[in-house]
Parts: sequence; structure tokens; C-alpha cells
Amino acid sequence: MTDTAIRPDSSGLTLMTKVDMKTFQTTEKSTWCAGCGDFGILASIKQALVGLNLAPHQVMFFSGIGCGSKLPHYMHVSALNTIHGRALPVATGFKLANHNMKVVAITGDGDGYGIGMGHLAHTMRRNPDITHIVENNQVYGLTKGQYSPTSGHGYISTTSPEGSIEVSVNPLALGMAMGASFLARSFSSDPKHLASMIMKAMTHKGYALVDVLQPCVTYNHVNTNEWYKSRVYKVEDLPNYDPTNRQMAYERAQEWGDRIPMGVIYADTDRPTYEDQVPLLQRGTLLELSEKAMRKDYDYESLKNEYM
Ligand code: SF4
Ligand code: MG
Repeated sequence: MTDTAIRPDSSGLTLMTKVDMKTFQTTEKSTWCAGCGDFGILASIKQALVGLNLAPHQVMFFSGIGCGSKLPHYMHVSALNTIHGRALPVATGFKLANHNMKVVAITGDGDGYGIGMGHLAHTMRRNPDITHIVENNQVYGLTKGQYSPTSGHGYISTTSPEGSIEVSVNPLALGMAMGASFLARSFSSDPKHLASMIMKAMTHKGYALVDVLQPCVTYNHVNTNEWYKSRVYKVEDLPNYDPTNRQMAYERAQEWGDRIPMGVIYADTDRPTYEDQVPLLQRGTLLELSEKAMRKDYDYESLKNEYM
């Protein structure tokens, strides 16, 4: 038995078997263009869930709007497609309601680093235990090729016909400045590396960003697969690289151009999560507390005394 990972027993629903790639299979037909980097990201996310032996009922996915935000449609998981740029606040609300669940937010660069920028910055400093995977193809794909927050200076698109005049968003440098506790980068054409970064992000306690470089074969003819391939390198191959060293991490986070660093750029494993610092949540999940509150034998005064 491989595709049904849970079975009822006397204590409720228990994980009985190991999950595998088939566990997450769906019959939903993809609308992505052939050659899109999203395919590699989808395969790597499934691989990471298999590697962590997480069944569909143990993880909740949130996405925004865009080509990449369709990703949870193509997996057998629980997911909520929110509105443009709003995956993170909804994911945070869910995490606070049931902090025992693994929570993953998936956005594109336009969605996560543009429309959702305010939410991104504040989620980084709040540090809820959420993994955020950003499919960064440096262009708006679904809305047909406008320049995005990560498009390079001078990038020509339908909305920047003479070249973008804006400075690109640097998500890793932003994360360093905003107090993010885990920052990583990977590449959709290196699925093994990407799956390992997602696994590290999902086991990190706190907000964990995985910035995933990916080609948009239809609209971005500058930052192609070959463009990324010829530039990326792994920080784990650098002698003495220490992702817990803020100074080293700041330097790598700033690097973009002929060489682009991938790997765990920064990790602070000592920082408490947002949930860890809410006294009420140490008594159980909000879900459990509200169930208790709804019990007939539980009056408001005793509930208040117990939890306030
Ligand atoms: Fe992928 Fe670009 Fe096609 Fe969207 S438009 S599916 S990002 S290749
Ligand atoms: Mg994009």
C-alpha cells in the first residue's frame, strides 16, 4: 500500500506506511508550458515530502496567483489558493490556528516579492514556522511577460519596452535585513539540490525562504536555463563557509551577476518561532482550545482562568 498513507485506528488517523512519489500523484492536467522550470520544482517538492516521510494530511500548502501558484493543483495535498500576494498572511493565520501542522507557502517572484512584499517583510521578522518556496523566474508569466520585481535593470518586456529602470529586489539581502532565520537558494534544473534545500527549510524551526531560480521559457529569453546554469555555484563547496555567520551570509546574499550563490546562505537555529512566544499556544493549538470552548461542560470563566 503506497498511495494511502493513513488508516484509522483506535487513536484516530495514524501514518501506517511510508509515502512515495505516487502518494502525491494527481490526474489534474498541467497548463504549464513545456520546458517550464515549475516542473522541476514540483518534482523536488514531492521528493522532499517523500524524504521527510510526510503524508498529505500532515502538510498544508498555500499559494497566491500566478503560473507557479498553480503548483499545489498538481499534487495530492491539502492546499488553499489565496489571492495575489496574500499566501503568507493566510499561511500564518493557519499556522497559529494549528501549529502542529507543517505549513508551506508557494509563490512566484511577482506574487511573493512584488504584490506580497509587505507581507514578506513582516513574515520574515515575525518568524512563524513556515516554509516559503518562491519560483523566481524574473518575469510575470501568467499575465504574459511584464517585468517583475526581480527582473534585471534594463530588462525589456511588454511593460518596459525601453528596459526596466528599477533596481531589482534582492530577496536574500532583504531577508538578512528583516531578521529572517533561514535563507536558501536553489535552481529548478538541479532537482537533487533543490529537494535537499526544501527538506532543510521544512525541518528548520521558523520562517524559511527557498528562492528558486527557474526559467520561464515563454517570456524570459534573457535569464534562460543556460544563463542560470553558467552562473550558479554552491556555497557548500566554498572552503569554510558557515551559514550561521551573519557577516559571511551578508556577503553571499549580495552576490548576483557572473556568479550566483546557491545553498543555505543563512541559518539561525536559536531564534524562537512566533508560536513559541505566544503563551496561550503552549497550552495546545487554537483548534484544540476552541473545541474545548465549545464543549457544553466548559463555561467561559473556567476557560478564561485556564488560558488567560
Ligand atoms: Fe512557465 Fe513561463 Fe509558461 Fe508560466 S508562462 S508556465 S512561468 S514557461
Ligand atoms: Mg514570475
